[in-house]
Amino acid sequence: MDKEILRSSVRLKFGVGKYPGTRAAVLQEVKEKLPLDEVEVVYKCREGRDWYITFTKAETAIRLSDETFTSNSGTTVRIESLDRRRVRFRVHWFPFHMKGELVEEYMEEYGSQIKLEYETQNHDGVNMKTGTMSGTMVCSESQYQSIPYRGHIHGRLVLITVMGRQTVCLRCGDMGHQRSTCPLKAAKKSYAAATRGDTQGDWQTVGSSRQIKPVEEVAEGTEHVPLYPESEVGVVMGPP
Ligand SMILES: [Zn+2]
Repeated sequence: MDKEILRSSVRLKFGVGKYPGTRAAVLQEVKEKLPLDEVEVVYKCREGRDWYITFTKAETAIRLSDETFTSNSGTTVRIESLDRRRVRFRVHWFPFHMKGELVEEYMEEYGSQIKLEYETQNHDGVNMKTGTMSGTMVCSESQYQSIPYRGHIHGRLVLITVMGRQTVCLRCGDMGHQRSTCPLKAAKKSYAAATRGDTQGDWQTVGSSRQIKPVEEVAEGTEHVPLYPESEVGVVMGPP
């Protein structure tokens, strides 16, 4: 994926009304709104009422994004940046006795439209919160790349796991493996590791490439981790 092309591109979502079936028709519909001399590519991706436009400059795409306008024939058209993805993430270790809003404020640096909630587990028919928060947000590519693996929220160390992102080892800090498979791990297992099996969870997997064997990361106290269907892994364009 070319980040600069992504930043320079928008999706045109045509609402109810006349839908342009050809490039020429699209340009006719939007010529009052979009600077046609800055259009580099006009394309379609699949069936549906969306057209895609790549501009010669990223600023143009960014400036026009999130606007809605009326086309020449009266159709409502929404412009959305392609440089955004919906990201699923979890925040571990933040004390439940502290305000959850602090976590949301912290994550605002890395995305928008944040939806966050406490996870629950069922124990003998009783639903309990685990203290772990999970949620979604919409990120630009650079925001996505800057999401930390660990952070401090109000002085408290938290672990942040992101769906589809490569794992970081909680033991040695290296990328791409988890604590239970850490090369530094002594052959002799601790009693705790031996009794719990040390293979729980499937949270964080490498989703960008199917050739890579998924690796897992499990934080303490997150032994019951939901699996995500493969279709949800990776880039999801547009707001939820
Ligand atoms: Zn390691």
